[in-house]
Amino acid sequence: GQCVNACPCGALDIRSEKGKVFRAISDPNKVVVGFVAPAVRSLVSSHFGIPFDEATSFMAGILKKLEFDKVFDFSFAADLTIVEETTEFLSRVAEKGILPQFTSCCPGWVNFVERRYPQLIPHLSTCKSPQQMMGATVKNHFAKISGIDKKDLYVVSIVPCIAKKYEAARPEFASGGIRDVDAVLTSNEMLEMLDLKRIAAAEIVPSEFDDPYKRVSGAGVLFGASGGVAEASLRMAVERITGNALVDQLDFQEIRGFKGIKEATVEAKGKKVRVAVVSGLKNVESIIEKVIQGEDAGYDLIEVMACPGGCICGAGHPVPEKAGILVERQQVLVDIDKTSECRKSQENSDIIRLYAEFYGTANSHLAHELLHTKYVPKNRRGGI
Ligand code: SF4
Repeated sequence: GQCVNACPCGALDIRSEKGKVFRAISDPNKVVVGFVAPAVRSLVSSHFGIPFDEATSFMAGILKKLEFDKVFDFSFAADLTIVEETTEFLSRVAEKGILPQFTSCCPGWVNFVERRYPQLIPHLSTCKSPQQMMGATVKNHFAKISGIDKKDLYVVSIVPCIAKKYEAARPEFASGGIRDVDAVLTSNEMLEMLDLKRIAAAEIVPSEFDDPYKRVSGAGVLFGASGGVAEASLRMAVERITGNALVDQLDFQEIRGFKGIKEATVEAKGKKVRVAVVSGLKNVESIIEKVIQGEDAGYDLIEVMACPGGCICGAGHPVPEKAGILVERQQVLVDIDKTSECRKSQENSDIIRLYAEFYGTANSHLAHELLHTKYVPKNRRGGI
């Protein structure tokens, strides 16, 4: 049995998994895969004083220096999440399904719903979070194409988030005793691993993330800050509704930033898509109450991130030393998106290839099996 506490996002219990990861790296029988969340590069940028356009390759360099065998960018899984979640949203709209749809990519938020508002579960997207989508894809697709037995793959995610440690340990995210994600390191733990190995910043050689998930979109990178999931989803939803490519209107400024609730209404072919972005759990209750009462909350799609400002403010990052650092972290992601060759999840060529060679179509049977889940009411005192 695992220790549990009463904190809805698990942020009070910090279990370090550095030892497990060091052991896996030194085990010659394991192929150790590391994948890193978008928000971690914003921290790396401010922590090491690296400009935004070098942050991604510096990030990959850190993981290679730590001797991970394969390093992938979690923003790839953010792209996959957008394709799955937006397809689900558009089906709910077309089939007059349960709306509004709430995002399910933040385990702090999902835990809160399961414990405090289980009536809201049908409104949650059935998508797993990007962390679990990436784990399931590596353990199934990557294992298959690289001819590596699942049990020899050791998959580590590196995130700004403590709730994700609990998420990876949920029993439904394992099959036959093999977890999709074997260990979860916070950004702090990653920095500690560098210290323990006495690796200085000057020794880190910028590198590339590995195939077959090398390409990521700017939209996927935006996931690390509040509003990013909704913005990435709008970039796809509007195109699918109108049937026309979005060309110059890719930025949805009104849903970026640190306000508790942000809103956007987008008109597409006479249809309105009403979006809300909630940053910080305390801001979501008024919306939840309306939805539970069956009132029109005024929104069709609602992004919720438990941490104010999104993952750039996650509890697994070092505490900012000076004011303004969170704005700097957000700006790194915005700048990476702005200068990305591909800025839409659905246009990421590695995503398109993954569907062609493995998942088929978005929301296909296999996608449902590996990339979606069921959320269940949890006793407030018990849990995962
Ligand atoms: Fe984790 Fe906070 Fe990001 Fe949610 S918003 S996924 S709790 S870091």
